[in-house]
Amino acid sequence: MVDRYHKIIGDSFKEFGITFDHYGRTSSTEHHNTASAFFTKLYNDGKFIEQVTEQLYDPEADQFLADRFVVGTCPKCGNTESYGDQCEKCGTSHNATDLIDPKSAITGNTPELKETKHWFLPLDEYSDWLNEWIVEGHSKDWKANVLGQVKSWITDGLHPRAVTRDLDWGIPVPVEGADGKVLYVWFDAPIGYISATKEWAAREGKNWKITGKRMIQNYCIL
Ligand SMILES: [Zn+2]
Repeated sequence: MVDRYHKIIGDSFKEFGITFDHYGRTSSTEHHNTASAFFTKLYNDGKFIEQVTEQLYDPEADQFLADRFVVGTCPKCGNTESYGDQCEKCGTSHNATDLIDPKSAITGNTPELKETKHWFLPLDEYSDWLNEWIVEGHSKDWKANVLGQVKSWITDGLHPRAVTRDLDWGIPVPVEGADGKVLYVWFDAPIGYISATKEWAAREGKNWKITGKRMIQNYCIL
């Protein structure tokens, strides 16, 4: 599916007359290595909370139901079609287990709870410097609606967030005892800014650390 859409999207841009310095994908080896290195550094520095929690599980599909594999009612605004990671109606980020009346997006079944181990990044510990960097340092650089959304996340209080998932697609969690677990897409995808820059720089014979800043400012995740 990824191969198919990578080509369709690339062809569409060409037809619109839009070209890129680098049209990459986060399934590349460079991206796997770069994202794994980020996780390993945080892991070795003791930044993660390792915790066994109960997560939604669909016995018929034999799969845990994180993020887009589950739909239910948003606990904040009552939208009955909220995803497990985010409500598209009110913009609230949540955990899949926060959903009211959750249903598997694969089978439509009501999920069970099953224990599984994950690694959490304690975002609450970083809220002071995030607030300083985002709200005070970059308030003029960002669009008002984006800044407003981010401010409300910080004001409402950040929480530890799992950066791993039980899935068979993605970047394997690079530590022992993590078989069948991959990095959460919003942990690894933003690292794509860096891995895409590295791929482009290697191809062009440039130093990605020097030319990277301009590249990253123009990057977009499709
Ligand atoms: Zn909502």
